[in-house]
Amino acid sequence: MSPTDADLVILGGGCAGLSLAARLADAGAHGPRVVVVEPRLAYVDDRSWCFWSTADSPLARLASAAWDGWSLSTAQGAATLQRAPGLAYRYVRGADFHADALARIAATRSRVTLLQGVSAGGVRGGAGASWWRPRAVRCTVAKWSIRARPRRRRAR
Ligand SMILES: Cc1cc2nc3c(=O)[nH]c(=O)nc-3n(C[C@H](O)[C@H](O)[C@H](O)COP(=O)(O)OP(=O)(O)OC[C@H]3O[C@@H](n4cnc5c(N)ncnc54)[C@H](O)[C@@H]3O)c2cc1C
Repeated sequence: MSPTDADLVILGGGCAGLSLAARLADAGAHGPRVVVVEPRLAYVDDRSWCFWSTADSPLARLASAAWDGWSLSTAQGAATLQRAPGLAYRYVRGADFHADALARIAATRSRVTLLQGVSAGGVRGGAGASWWRPRAVRCTVAKWSIRARPRRRRAR
């Protein structure tokens, strides 16, 4: 797939961008042509995600630890969260999340391309005519774009 001809450009390959990209990659040959733009050259194990979920939730299989309940102790006292039937508090390491998403994106029938080491410069256009331009020289035309990168801070 040429990175200059995509149905969807996802700006930012973090948790949100990679999650969407991996789900679209799972559609295989029937999925849209997607380009993910991510400045990082490599993903490292720099964070984790914890959440309550049932055992059949999409990320539960990646959890390296799970708890039925928790308690919090402070100088003012302690509180215990009641166990919720069917739910567990799950811990997913960043490394496991990234490895799973990257493998799905790299699958043979995937129509998702991950461009690493590329920083998106901007998006222009309305519905059906959006495009992004990295700081260098490349420009990709796509039907849709999704911003999954942090908002730029306004100069004071
Ligand atoms: C140690 C730690 C623990 C955390 N634990 C939890 C938790 O338990 N539960 C929870 O909900 N959240 C947790 N968070 C917060 C977590 O970071 C967010 O929930 C989640 O990562 C946000 O996802 P995101 O895709 O919006 O942003 P990010 O994951 O930050 O992704 C943004 C992406 O945009 C990319 N980007 C930046 N500039 C550009 C550009 N110009 N062009 C293209 N791409 C660009 C970045 O490189 C990055 O990959 C934790 C964070 C940390 C650091």
